[in-house]
Amino acid sequence: MPRILNDALEAIGNTPLIRLDRIARHYDLKCNLLGKVEYMSSGGSIKDRIARSMVEAAEREGKLIPGKSVVIEPTSGNTGVGLAMACAIKGYSVIITLPNKMSLEKEAALRALGAEVVRTPTEAPSNAPESHIGVALRLQREIPYGIVLDQYNNPNNPLAHELTTGPEIIEAVTSTPSTSERPSSGKVDVLISAAGTGGTVTGLSRVIKRTHNKSCIVVCIDPEGSVMAVPESLNVKNKGKLFAVEGIGYDFLPGVLSRDPTDIDAWIKTDDEDAFDAVQVIMQKEGLLVGGSSGTALSGAMKWLTGTTEGKAISQKQDANVVIVFPDGLRNYIGKDWFLNTSMKKEPTALAGVIARVLQDD
Ligand code: PMP
Repeated sequence: MPRILNDALEAIGNTPLIRLDRIARHYDLKCNLLGKVEYMSSGGSIKDRIARSMVEAAEREGKLIPGKSVVIEPTSGNTGVGLAMACAIKGYSVIITLPNKMSLEKEAALRALGAEVVRTPTEAPSNAPESHIGVALRLQREIPYGIVLDQYNNPNNPLAHELTTGPEIIEAVTSTPSTSERPSSGKVDVLISAAGTGGTVTGLSRVIKRTHNKSCIVVCIDPEGSVMAVPESLNVKNKGKLFAVEGIGYDFLPGVLSRDPTDIDAWIKTDDEDAFDAVQVIMQKEGLLVGGSSGTALSGAMKWLTGTTEGKAISQKQDANVVIVFPDGLRNYIGKDWFLNTSMKKEPTALAGVIARVLQDD
């Protein structure tokens, strides 16, 4: 890679794969637990990759005209940030439709990048005209040169992960030697990811199983309230319940989510509380400033690794490589109650008592 990059789009991806040794020890796991840390991408999330690939594909197909095209996209924010970043650089206007539950931090970043933001009701079913998807489609119909790149159905979404995220994970694992201290199978043995559009899990599964290790076990995590998990019976209990974690889980099956039962081996459901507790664990044990869906991914990973026969067996193999995808960062959510309530309202620590004693007037 050249040292001077031409623009922020060239700083998308190439994110680190980081050992999560302290978390592994905490849960008594012997395997290599590895986090693919996507907040280190230039726009701050895994969705930068698909924003770039969808824009570049549309340009190749002659669908975007600089100075005229208006890129319109329904998103939970991260795809929007990636698109707004690409469009700021390339000279297209952007409108993002964003459900109300998504953070103010995302809206502020979008506006800073020059995008218009239209908020939509969180509780609107995805196929309703007032949902983020419905509003985007209406704007596309009515705005001249409006174009929805449509991350939910665009093949360049999973393809971005087949071409970049997956090869980066495979390269990191295969180029790390096995040593007596750090035994490694040399393969990605398990891949664990939450799903929104499903582009990440689909693209990663395809490239890992087809080009690297066909026996890799792919585990996908779905929040309670969403209907994406298989079998359908997993979704029955809390169907339709609203959940606070952003960017994952839907009331429909996006077109890019693989329907091939061999691509995703197991589904695990998690709830908000598990996810937000897991965010704290990732920050406190590993010093990684991850967002809410990373907590979903870790809590689902732990349910699978400690609560299923297959997972338990893998978790005790010293050379097994278990990769968990961490899609975005905490700075997207700093002002959210779920974060402030846990980090700002903690019991005073022992050190806080020491500070108070030092600073007290006498
Ligand atoms: N986490 C966050 C924070 C996201 O924004 C997204 C994308 N909506 C995902 C996870 C899921 O990624 P994908 O759409 O590729 O399934």
